[in-house]
Amino acid sequence: MYAAATSCRAAALPARCLSSKKASSSGSIHKMHGSGGVRRVVKPRRGVVAESTDMDMDAQADLIAQQIEELKKQNARLKSDLGGVIAEREVKKKVNNLEFLEGKGALEGSTLGLGNAYVGTGDLREQFMEYEKVAAAKAKELAESAMRGPEAPVGTGVTPRPPPVFEKTENPMSIVFVSSEVAPWSKTGGLADVCGSLPRELVKRGHRVMVVSPMYKLGKKEDELYHGAFDTCSNTTVGCFDAAHEVGFFHQIYDGVDFVFVKHACYERIGGLYGDSYGVYGDNQFRFTLLSHAACEAPLVIDFGEGKGTYGDEVVFVANDWHAGLVPLLVASKYRPYGTYNNCRTITTIHNIMHQGTEPNTTFNNLGVPSDWYSCLEYQYPEEQRAHELDLGLVVNILKGAIATSDRVLTVSEGYAQEIQTPLGGKGLEVMLQERSHRLDGVVNGIDMDEWNPMTDPYTDAPFDVSDFSGKLECKRGLQREMGFEVRDDVPLMGFIGRLDWQKGPDLIRDAIHELMNEDVQLVMLGSGLPELEEFMQWAEGTYSEKFRGWVGFSVAMSHRITAGCDILLMPSRFEPCGLNQLYAMRYGTLPIGHATGGLNDTITRANPYADPDPQLAVAAAVDESDLGPGTGWLFTGMDTRTFYNCVSNACKLYHENPEMWRAMQIQAMSQDLSWYNAALKWEKVFEWAKIDPPHCEPAQW
Ligand code: ADP
Repeated sequence: MYAAATSCRAAALPARCLSSKKASSSGSIHKMHGSGGVRRVVKPRRGVVAESTDMDMDAQADLIAQQIEELKKQNARLKSDLGGVIAEREVKKKVNNLEFLEGKGALEGSTLGLGNAYVGTGDLREQFMEYEKVAAAKAKELAESAMRGPEAPVGTGVTPRPPPVFEKTENPMSIVFVSSEVAPWSKTGGLADVCGSLPRELVKRGHRVMVVSPMYKLGKKEDELYHGAFDTCSNTTVGCFDAAHEVGFFHQIYDGVDFVFVKHACYERIGGLYGDSYGVYGDNQFRFTLLSHAACEAPLVIDFGEGKGTYGDEVVFVANDWHAGLVPLLVASKYRPYGTYNNCRTITTIHNIMHQGTEPNTTFNNLGVPSDWYSCLEYQYPEEQRAHELDLGLVVNILKGAIATSDRVLTVSEGYAQEIQTPLGGKGLEVMLQERSHRLDGVVNGIDMDEWNPMTDPYTDAPFDVSDFSGKLECKRGLQREMGFEVRDDVPLMGFIGRLDWQKGPDLIRDAIHELMNEDVQLVMLGSGLPELEEFMQWAEGTYSEKFRGWVGFSVAMSHRITAGCDILLMPSRFEPCGLNQLYAMRYGTLPIGHATGGLNDTITRANPYADPDPQLAVAAAVDESDLGPGTGWLFTGMDTRTFYNCVSNACKLYHENPEMWRAMQIQAMSQDLSWYNAALKWEKVFEWAKIDPPHCEPAQW
């Protein structure tokens, strides 16, 4: 546009007349023969030839006046054409020209043709100044847009990946999950999510699935969730802690799964699932011993009616974490010797090996486990972990008992399955896990695609999917408003959701807070836990009130809004068996930054700066699960502040400078199959393998 306008103008220009003084000062003069006069040829400046002949001075003055008028009109047109394309670089060029011409004394009263500037008369300086102003404004705008990067289109032309179609299994089984928490009724972490969603996927495959969990009454709103459960009137009495304890079973069907809630007074108290403001409950060993005993009875005693009957004793038990860890031991020690559960199989699932359910070994007799099985539970702490010199460090370790007696062990990612066999990751159980490594598998968790669906999420401000990101922008603005941040599209909004404890690494965020806040970012943290970290959040909010918000507590709604509204999710976990937040984040196009450990390492594909940011290629990379795509997030390898901060800084740089790549990463993240479908098939395989093998603890063996 600009070049075309310039050449048109040059063609339309009449021959220029210059005074000899000016001509001689700005060009060389050659004598021409045969024309009856002196013809001056001004050395062309920037491609425009100006020439003049000796003429009558009045006529010449008129002609000049006309030319000036004509040129002014053209200038006005050119100015408007130029408005859209002027950049700072060009301004400098013009100013240089100006200085150059001033230096040569070429401006006064002259008419000049400048190849790529507009032409002026005596007010040329003024025009340049005006030009400079326009250009400076334009340059500022360009610089600002370079800061936030060119807008990536919100519509991507990408079609959302259809959900996998569940085919029915040819080998239906009866499966019983036992867990201390299950979403949506009770939840403190990922265990609840897994036990709430995986059973529903297994039902879709055609299995019959029961989940046994306590019926908590904590004096909270969530207590009402149990109102849909009916008393099965199948009370049973279990023997432990030197007494017979009567428990009730309440039943609720949800998406075809039989959720069974164990009712007992020990689950009814004001506080949390495992503790209150005074710390962890002192009777947790009792509460979860009771749960395991009750769960072993449930398939035998609960008649589900309508021709369904009981589950019977050919079930597969899935005992989750230490809270359910007595189930495999009770099956092996208390039932099989009497002919019950001979065809049952038990799977111990480790969601977090940090928690093993240890108590002094003097409590063994409370557990209701036959005394000749003591050695399965006995564990001795290494000397450096004992309290004093006389302390032998002898405890009963319920998770150890579960690993020792279950048919198979499963954990929630392949990476974590390896890590727990090492001294660093095994937390004292590594040797036992190495011994059982041929029966140890890792399967990455899936997510509940209905609960975590950006198109239907009731907690967020607008729906969106991979084909159109405008809703995500609305979610971001909504979150910024809610947090009292400046509403800006061009600032990376980062989030953290999780328990505030050593495992999740929020201390790394704390230690890097000054560097982080020096970046052009906004950060919101949601979580509760260690008082010093909660206090840090308060302090940071006061100190960096424009960029930092800390939300102390547990809020499902808030976790959804942060997941949807943020650009980046921080997961600096020291160890992470699987981690669900990064999966939720990727489903919402929020790119995770995680420590390269366990499930984070297994599920986040590193950002690839050499990738082609084409949206369709990003989809292809997600479908093929290849590393050739743009990636889905960032992984850092050293658990130190500097490495963490550098990683965040890199991500922010990409956010500012390469929105196409950012969008491609979001597309790859959102196009992955994060559903339970593939994971459920793998779990099913583990159940089948367990069924093929003879029981790990056969009565004769003991
Ligand atoms: P873990 O089970 O180790 O705590 P996961 O990442 O596996 O960690 O799962 C954590 C689950 O708990 C996620 O669903 C996460 O959204 C949720 N969560 C953690 N802290 C909070 C909180 N403060 N408010 C709401 N949800 C939370």
